[in-house]
Amino acid sequence: MGTGSRSPRALVTALTVLVTAAAATLTAAAPAGAAPAAACTGYVGLTFDDGPSGNTTRLLDALRHNGLRATMFNQGQYAAAHPSLVRAQVAAGMWVGNHSYTHPHLTRLSQPQIDSEISRTQQAIATAGGGTPKLFRPPYGETNATVRSVAARHGLTEIIWHVDSQDWNGASTDAIVQSAARLTNGQVILMHDWSANTLAAIPRIAQTLASRGLCPGTISPQTGRAVSPG
Ligand SMILES: [Zn+2]
Repeated sequence: MGTGSRSPRALVTALTVLVTAAAATLTAAAPAGAAPAAACTGYVGLTFDDGPSGNTTRLLDALRHNGLRATMFNQGQYAAAHPSLVRAQVAAGMWVGNHSYTHPHLTRLSQPQIDSEISRTQQAIATAGGGTPKLFRPPYGETNATVRSVAARHGLTEIIWHVDSQDWNGASTDAIVQSAARLTNGQVILMHDWSANTLAAIPRIAQTLASRGLCPGTISPQTGRAVSPG
């Protein structure tokens, strides 16, 4: 980068790009009826594991209040115990995924045991009114070829994460917000239903994403990446 070398022509080009970008933003923001005020330049996948729990209602309120949608990777045992909370997740605009029944280390289990963990969760979520999940997150992100093939037999795509908020590891609210700020288009972040610091981070996560034009997306079972909810 030389100093003083900027030609008038380069300046005109730069201005043209700016004007074009501004016009594109206005055009994209224009369509009627859309709730978000700003155009989305990309989508990110917010995920919350281990629910539903006694914290789920507060989490759903915070997400809804801040215009966020997320994927809830539920444990089957809790979906079976709290079916109304699964329905509340769906009613709040969330997507529901499978996070095993009892949260074991799946890679240490036999194939029939893995199958039981996954199939009972599919059943519990569907019975509760959460639909039949298409996304599966193995506990601890621990997986292998057997886990993946059992999941696939149940029509599930395995989803790990691109960014780990570390909320399970005692991350502060500031640190969780900073993790979310690292997300780029298509990426997925790991958070937890039970984390008080994550709950407290929700408004600032919403602000951070909005300031970068990133909107909450659904996770595509085809690509494992966040996409427009459509
Ligand atoms: Zn978990």
